[in-house]
Amino acid sequence: MVFKLLRVIRSAGRVAEPAGSAPAGPACAKAAALGGSVQLRHVDAGSCNGCEVEIGSVFGPVYDAERYGARLVASPRHADALLVTGPVTRNMAEPLRRTYEAVSEPRIVVAVGDCARNCGEFAGAYGVHGAVADVVPVDVEVPGCPPAPEAIVAALRGLTGR
Ligand code: SF4
Repeated sequence: MVFKLLRVIRSAGRVAEPAGSAPAGPACAKAAALGGSVQLRHVDAGSCNGCEVEIGSVFGPVYDAERYGARLVASPRHADALLVTGPVTRNMAEPLRRTYEAVSEPRIVVAVGDCARNCGEFAGAYGVHGAVADVVPVDVEVPGCPPAPEAIVAALRGLTGR
């Protein structure tokens, strides 16, 4: 059984998408301080989880964002940047603010998806406090509902410059 599995793994080969050319320029002014890698803390501020599925793909074997120097970390104290999804719900406004304050400089915020940018489908809903920019300063926006993994990868490559 184990040998059969190893044979399948060996025959599958590399599944990652071709890297494509490096970004033309930085995604934001603060990106210059990163030096080629970015540690990201993901915050779901009220997403439907569609954006999380795409972020999962971005860090999976096909899009493999780690090869460009982007890594997800478990604590904001280990992060240089936040990857925020969803409209910010009333319950998540204060946790998002505190998480932002715990991130190291240059403290970049990437708003992923239309909900994060402008509340998207949830604009005007009872439990929604506002867009991400209504709570913390946003440096990079990735439009889409949900954004394609390629668009998220492009934004992250714009931070690392790789
Ligand atoms: S942008 Fe779309 S996929 Fe992402 S959280 Fe909003 S509704 Fe869900």
